[in-house]
Amino acid sequence: MAKVLVVAEQRDGRLKKSSFELLGASSAAGNETHAILLGEGVAALGKELGQYGAKTVHVADSPALKFYTGEAHAKIILDFAKSQGFDVILGSHTPTGRDLMPRIAAGLNVGLASDCTSLKFEGNKIKVRRPVYAGKATAEVEFIGNGPQMASFRPNALGVPKPDTGKSAEVANLSPATSGFKTKVSDVAKGASGRPDVTEAAIVVSGGRAMKNAENFKILEEMADVLGAAVGASRAAVDSGFRPHRDQVGQTGKVVSPALYIACGISGAIQHLAGMRTSKVIVAINTDPEAPIFQIADYGVVADLFAEVPLLTAEFKKLKEH
Ligand SMILES: Cc1cc2nc3c(=O)[nH]c(=O)nc-3n(C[C@H](O)[C@H](O)[C@H](O)COP(=O)(O)OP(=O)(O)OC[C@H]3O[C@@H](n4cnc5c(N)ncnc54)[C@H](O)[C@@H]3O)c2cc1C
Repeated sequence: MAKVLVVAEQRDGRLKKSSFELLGASSAAGNETHAILLGEGVAALGKELGQYGAKTVHVADSPALKFYTGEAHAKIILDFAKSQGFDVILGSHTPTGRDLMPRIAAGLNVGLASDCTSLKFEGNKIKVRRPVYAGKATAEVEFIGNGPQMASFRPNALGVPKPDTGKSAEVANLSPATSGFKTKVSDVAKGASGRPDVTEAAIVVSGGRAMKNAENFKILEEMADVLGAAVGASRAAVDSGFRPHRDQVGQTGKVVSPALYIACGISGAIQHLAGMRTSKVIVAINTDPEAPIFQIADYGVVADLFAEVPLLTAEFKKLKEH
């Protein structure tokens, strides 16, 4: 059994699903599972983390922690981790986790296996797997030496467990120093889209260069709205100004692992595949039967996306209505 700390994430008072995945994986292996949660007005969220497997939730609740800053969050978690002696520290490979987890690892002078897609406990040791060479191979990583074993996980890779509403966690309040930091975020301007982020969504509908312009993405947005999906894009679409960079999937964009990825007019260049090949089910719509995307697609449709996408959207609507 390992003593495990899960670095939980929340945004605007809503816990991230990726944190539930980590708690579920740790507690299912019978570990002593702790979570740490920072923010403003987040004390009440501690109980919810208990439903996913946290035994104790350590909460730092302060107006000074309303917005994430790497400097303050890493220092608080680092000081806490140093005082506790965890065998394992797990976090999410989200935009926040990408910034936060290396800072904590550096402070503890230990290595970090990032962007992992599987986790196995053996006593108080872990083995993780992570894609390398843009997803062409998978490395199995074991940890040597002293200090906590640290790993961050691709959202959706481990799966969200069913919450046990009968369970709740013990909530322990932390009172860390929150002043004296060099960085302070006073406001965060949100994008207009009400859709989920591509890294978090269970379904992603993506468009490529073939979309031709920004307006044409409307047909993908319509499909996404019916499915409750996020809208993603290839780099060619982003570079052409059709979508903002935050929607880009791939090596130099975001890495996604949804239950369903629908690629529309995307050729399947290796750099795009690096960002989506671990999706559970991949559907590709492309006019070119030789397009490389079909080599990794579970379902391939050789068709003009401008004809096919509206037909699929209409069918999805019908299915939803029944
Ligand atoms: C260092 C580096 C990093 C990169 N990082 C990324 C990254 O993060 N993400 C990324 O995506 N790319 C990345 N790229 C770019 C990548 O190599 C490709 O250029 C890019 O993915 C191509 O985008 P695309 O598939 O939309 O366009 P294209 O390759 O031009 O493919 C368009 C596809 O649409 C099909 N098509 C055309 N018309 C229709 C239609 N009406 N209906 C259906 N299908 C149609 C065509 O058959 C074709 O297969 C990177 C490149 C480099 C060098």
